[in-house]
Amino acid sequence: MAKIGINIATGSLQKEEIIVGIDLGTTNSLVAIIHPETKQPIALKEHNTNTLVPSVVYFNKLGDILVGDEAKEFLISAPERTIFSAKRLLGKNYGDIKNNASFFSYKIIDEDANRQVKIKIDNKFYSPVDLSALILKELKTRAEHILKTPVHKAVITVPAYFNDAQRQATRDAGKLAGLDVLRIINEPTAASLAYGLGIKKEGQKTIAVYDLGGGTFDISILNINEGVFEVLSTNGDTYLGGDDFDMAILKYWQKKMNISDEELLNNPSLMQALRLKGEEAKKYLSTNEFYTTTLNDKMLSLTKNDLNNLLKPLINKTIVCCKKAVKDAGLSLNKIDEIIMVGGSTRVPLVNDIVGEYFGKVVNNSVNPDEIVALGAAIQADILAGNNKDALLLDITPLSLGIETAGELMDVIIARNSKIPSSAAREYTTQVDGQINMRISIYQGERDIVKDNRLLATLNLKGIPAMPAGLAKVSVSFIINTDGILTVKAKELRSGVEQFIEIKSQLGIDDETVEKMLLDAMSNAKNDISARALAEASTEGEQLLKTTERFLQKNAGLLIENELAETAEAMQSLQLALTVADKNLIQNKTEMLNDISRPYAERIMNSAVGEAMKGKNIF
Ligand code: ADP
Ligand code: MG
Repeated sequence: MAKIGINIATGSLQKEEIIVGIDLGTTNSLVAIIHPETKQPIALKEHNTNTLVPSVVYFNKLGDILVGDEAKEFLISAPERTIFSAKRLLGKNYGDIKNNASFFSYKIIDEDANRQVKIKIDNKFYSPVDLSALILKELKTRAEHILKTPVHKAVITVPAYFNDAQRQATRDAGKLAGLDVLRIINEPTAASLAYGLGIKKEGQKTIAVYDLGGGTFDISILNINEGVFEVLSTNGDTYLGGDDFDMAILKYWQKKMNISDEELLNNPSLMQALRLKGEEAKKYLSTNEFYTTTLNDKMLSLTKNDLNNLLKPLINKTIVCCKKAVKDAGLSLNKIDEIIMVGGSTRVPLVNDIVGEYFGKVVNNSVNPDEIVALGAAIQADILAGNNKDALLLDITPLSLGIETAGELMDVIIARNSKIPSSAAREYTTQVDGQINMRISIYQGERDIVKDNRLLATLNLKGIPAMPAGLAKVSVSFIINTDGILTVKAKELRSGVEQFIEIKSQLGIDDETVEKMLLDAMSNAKNDISARALAEASTEGEQLLKTTERFLQKNAGLLIENELAETAEAMQSLQLALTVADKNLIQNKTEMLNDISRPYAERIMNSAVGEAMKGKNIF
């Protein structure tokens, strides 16, 4: 049932609950909606404030929490209780970040390399999910304040390379903040939507999304085909962004002012002041030629030309990443139709020049680069709300998902490139008499032999009632929800016993790995096909040996001596054939054993049926 809210500002009734779009950024976060009157996406801000909320959380000694601009002020005065860049820690364990631990000025707990990281402030522990939730909660409160209506539903963006653990962590943070996260979408997808790309069915397009933020750089190459977004490749540098630009300016002035490194390190407030002035200069020079200011009675200045010289090497580093991404996407440069600029740092004119020059095209930078991701999320939210009827938006699975079957073979249940959400089921049976457990190993990948794919999880279906091999009917179903999270269910249909597993983590896989796995699958296709044929032949041979053995145990007395001898010989040579990896030999020996056993098996079966008939009074 739709909730009815009253917009106090306008006095109007809002029948449909609003769905907001949220860009939960490393440096800055913000909320956007589709304006109910203009139908255009807008970033929300209160009068006299910024649309951007710095992704910073400060905890004071009394246990009060500040988020955003107010928290940012404590970065220097109370670095151990001011958390920035929590997004970098989402869905990560200590092992993942220990090489960069010195980047963070606050205490990250490392009790176990395999556990999710935690942050300690006073005697309390906070997870990155808790911290992200505080930022989301602040955004939610702001939005409610501005819109004068409760906000419960959101679309949140994440980087394209986020794996499932990171996506799930984002979703959990939303839930903690009191938001129903209707969908998690990729930041480059959102940016494309903000330019109207991929909203309607309009053929195929290849897009490069260049995102240079405060501390990170991401380049994503997307293919949009009839409204379906596919991430062809991603690349980037998780420690390169506008902060490095500021540091370059700081270093430049430090030299000009003859300040030693030691002096600077011992004077954090001077360092902070210089850094802030540096950021100010950088922003100012995005639209002006000359910047000047005073600091402690000394004059500081910077020309656009000085700035360009400082930034050029940093920007060139991003081009190296772009080259890799284009190469990984398997494209030539001229196949890229659009370049979309995202992130505050792309306001630097030189960034646009160098990127445009590399791609050989004029870049798209007309949409506000700080807001574009949130605006795109709002467009997606509007589509989900059903307000944009002719829009379609689908994601697809990058790799096939399936389970291990006899012979260590991969049985694909949801094929690569299937549209998300998606579900499929298949039936399996037991291999051994009286089998009461069934281990279902779930894999991701394109290779025929499971060990060449990625093991995602195993599911143990317990409590199958004992019955002869082949009688149990186990239905295994795969369900991928709109966030790409996979649930695998196994159910024995005769007894109803069932078990399921939700694969939140480890399913995630970066696009580089996806590309590599696809290439491996292609280059190994021939070997894989013969390996599969061998595995299938072996399974069949083993199965026949087992049934023959069982048959003999029950019916040996009904066979004549010659039959027994022949059978023993054929079994032995099949057994031996199974020890060598020769498909033809195995098939040959399997056929021989079959030929020998078939006549007497039929004879005995018929007489057994005859016996059974005799005992019954059928008249
Ligand atoms: P993130 O995606 O990492 O949260 P943003 O996209 O908000 O970050 O980018 C923040 C960065 O953009 C900061 O380093 C900021 O200094 C930089 N920035 C913002 N405005 C400008 C500008 N006018 N010129 C140059 N850099 C800018
Ligand atoms: Mg961003």
